[in-house]
Amino acid sequence: MQLVFATNNLNKLKEVQAILPPHIKLLSLKDIACTEDIPETQTTIEGNAIQKAEYLQSHYGYDCFADDTGLEVNALDGEPGVYSARYAGPQRNAEDNTNKLLNELQDNPNRAAQFKTVIALHINGQLHTFTGICKGSITTKTYGQGGFGYDPIFKAEGYTKTFAEISLEEKNKIGHRGKAIRQLVNFLNQ
Ligand code: IMP
Repeated sequence: MQLVFATNNLNKLKEVQAILPPHIKLLSLKDIACTEDIPETQTTIEGNAIQKAEYLQSHYGYDCFADDTGLEVNALDGEPGVYSARYAGPQRNAEDNTNKLLNELQDNPNRAAQFKTVIALHINGQLHTFTGICKGSITTKTYGQGGFGYDPIFKAEGYTKTFAEISLEEKNKIGHRGKAIRQLVNFLNQ
């Protein structure tokens, strides 16, 4: 059985393939010669994941899944949320995004936030979604060199270190994407 993962990120692909049953072969966008930008024009994280999976299924005909992630900050009414990648502008720069978020919060004592990943799976003509949430807080400055995106300013609940200071293995165990992926894999393993 072949399943397309709407990504060209080989690390994400390997990570998921490693925990899938061997009869499911994952294909990347490159594998199906999809080089176009898949539309992501919805106003929610879930909406974007579904839009990407439905687009791929209807244009390329493969069973597939797509993910979308955002950082939701309580004091900012859930922003940047679905706009996390382009929070500071269309250049989609991680440093600009984290600086903007730190500025918006300044010395606001309410630092509560959560990462949310939604995976939309289109299989056998049906759509299923899986949501992974990691609750935590926003630091007042950046810490650590690892990870990517907002990792240097996000501490998971119960942790004294940011996502940029812990190992990838540990992040996957407690993180939003790992949680959503494990739900997807459990479903496919049924
Ligand atoms: P995407 O949906 O995976 O492309 O993620 C959207 C944006 O959220 C990215 O551009 C990152 O800035 C941010 N992001 C997603 N996942 C993570 C994460 O695990 N850590 C930190 N930032 C993330």
